[in-house]
Order: sequence, then structure tokens, then C-alpha cells
Amino acid sequence: MNVLVVLPSVLTVPHLEVIAAARTLGSVTALVVGDPDLAMLARHGVPRVLVPEMPPTTEPAAVADAAVAAVEASRPDAVLLVSSFAGKAVAGRLAVLLDCGAVTDVTGLRVEDGVVVASKPVLQGSWATECAVTRGPAVIAVRPTAFEAREEPGGTPEVVTLPVTPGAAARAVTVEAREARPASGRPPLEEARVVVAGGRGTDGDFTLVEELADALGGAVGATRVATDEGWIDHAAQIGQTGVTISPRLYVGLGISGAIHHTAALQGAETIVVVNSDPDARIFGMADFGVVGDLREVLPTAIAALRGT
Ligand SMILES: Cc1cc2nc3c(=O)[nH]c(=O)nc-3n(C[C@H](O)[C@H](O)[C@H](O)COP(=O)(O)OP(=O)(O)OC[C@H]3O[C@@H](n4cnc5c(N)ncnc54)[C@H](O)[C@@H]3O)c2cc1C
Repeated sequence: MNVLVVLPSVLTVPHLEVIAAARTLGSVTALVVGDPDLAMLARHGVPRVLVPEMPPTTEPAAVADAAVAAVEASRPDAVLLVSSFAGKAVAGRLAVLLDCGAVTDVTGLRVEDGVVVASKPVLQGSWATECAVTRGPAVIAVRPTAFEAREEPGGTPEVVTLPVTPGAAARAVTVEAREARPASGRPPLEEARVVVAGGRGTDGDFTLVEELADALGGAVGATRVATDEGWIDHAAQIGQTGVTISPRLYVGLGISGAIHHTAALQGAETIVVVNSDPDARIFGMADFGVVGDLREVLPTAIAALRGT
């Protein structure tokens, strides 16, 4: 299979995971909207890079236009990208523009009789589904952490420039300003392998949540109650109206387990919770639960992790 991966110029772990996912299907061409990191792409086995003739951008409408041009130029069987908010926006637009099938939040990929079959968990992870994309190219948004990034050193990729005609949607958007969020030193929530989340039970003090996250090298998340109260930034909200996560480990602290929150934990492999109410709904989905006051349980856990 020929596979096109849609990438930005700065590659993070989820982008490298998508490249690894693409390599399981066939030979890879990368579309890089911006300055390509050729050394990194060479290390991850990408032999050919398409660079659109347009200013660097992450706007979904513009990236989708570039992807349409790349599909016309390279005729791939599948187009892969990261299943982030922006990636899903590009995937949807691309499927409409190309009149093909798209699957988001994908955790597994295979080819059967020349057709791409993507697996994804749905309904809080209680069902595993497989979606065959019968009208291609198959547009596949791959969930962060679903694949392992793997180096496959090769030569410097061939770079081909790509003329792009911006569509009406891209022309309608002008980015007036951008402000980088101050770096927390923690991994981004959507990409983190460990997420420690706090809810109303923290009573507004996220110190222990942050300390546990740092002891585990994880990201900090929260329920909507905590973000609405202003205890933590809205970007930390996990749930139906927040971020969807798929960590190896989710730790929920003082969280009741409302469906609006837990719906976004579908991809979590191991769930550990601390709640003072033994009847809290969240215990029903936990692999390991502690009934107790988080202010008493957490200092001991943090000290044990730090070896102090
Ligand atoms: C349309 C809609 C969309 C929504 N979207 C989201 C969303 O995206 N994300 C989201 O999170 N919510 C969302 N909500 C809100 C959601 O329904 C819940 O209200 C919310 O998730 C509850 O947050 P919580 O678990 O922190 O609070 P609560 O439900 O109040 O639970 C607090 C828990 O903390 C425990 N506790 C209290 N003190 C302690 C202590 N000292 N130690 C240990 N445990 C303690 C309690 O026993 C309780 O179980 C949405 C709601 C609606 C209607």
C-alpha cells in the first residue's frame, strides 16, 4: 500500500507513532505543512516528503487543501494523521473533499483484501469495533499512544514541492494572532501515557494531584466541576466537552465518575481511583480503587513513588 501521512513541521511523539502505524501498511510519503524536519523523518523511515507551496499553517481548512493536493500527486491508498482535535477536523474535511471514508480515534490497523480495516473502541470502551473503509483513500486518524514510535533509519528523504490552490474555506480564515501556552514541563494531556485527574473532591487544591502527576511523569487533568470553578485551566478538562485521553494509566482523584467525564477515558488501559465514597460510580470501572480521603492517601503514595 502507498500511505500518505499528514504532519506539521515540529514532530512530537504522536506524529512519530502515526509514521510507525503507516509503515505497518506500506511505503510512506509525508506531507509536511511547514519546514520539514528531514533528519527526524529519515530516522523514522520516510523516504519522500511533499512540501506544499503555502505559508506554514495548522488551520484545518488549509491543511485539508494541502492534503487534497498531496493525494492527487501521490495517489495513496490511505491517509494517516494524528487523532487530535485539529487532526480530526482535517480528517473530516478531507473525507468530504475527496468523497471517501474516514475513521477517527483509531487504535489498530490492518489490510484485508486490499481494504483498510481500522479498529476503534466506542461506548466508553465497552465495544471494540472494526471499520472497513470501502471508498478510498482511507482517511485514518490514529489515537495517540495506540502505536509505538519506532526508528527505521534510512537516507535523507527526497523533497518534492507541491502547488496548492486554497479552497473557499481556507481563504475565509485569517489567523490574527497566536499565543503559545506557557510550558508546564508535563506532557500534553491528549498524548500522555499517564494522566492524573482531580475533581470536586480536591476541594480546589490541586497540589497533591500535581505532585502525583510529577512523581509518575504524567499530565494533569480535571473534571468540568474543577475547571468551571477555576481551580485549573479549562484545557485540563477531560470529558465529553473536553479532551479525550488514551493513557496507559489514568488516576482519578475525588471524581464521582459521571458519564460526561468517563466517556473520554475509553482508551485508558489501567484505571486507579481514590474516592471517600465507597458507592462512587467510578469504582465500577476501576482496576484498582482506594476508598479514602485523598488528602490522607496521596501523601503516602507520593512518598512511596519518590522513595522517600
Ligand atoms: C452536557 C454536559 C457536558 C459535560 N461535560 C463534562 C466533561 O466534559 N467533563 C466532565 O468532567 N464533566 C462534564 N460534565 C459534568 C458531569 O456531569 C459531572 O457533573 C462532573 O464530571 C462531576 O465532577 P466531579 O466528579 O469532580 O464532581 P462530583 O460529581 O461532585 O464528585 C466528587 C467526588 O469526590 C469525592 N470526594 C469528595 N471529597 C473527597 C476527598 N476528600 N477524598 C476523596 N474523594 C472525595 C466524592 O465522594 C465524589 O464522588 C458535563 C455535564 C453536562 C450536563
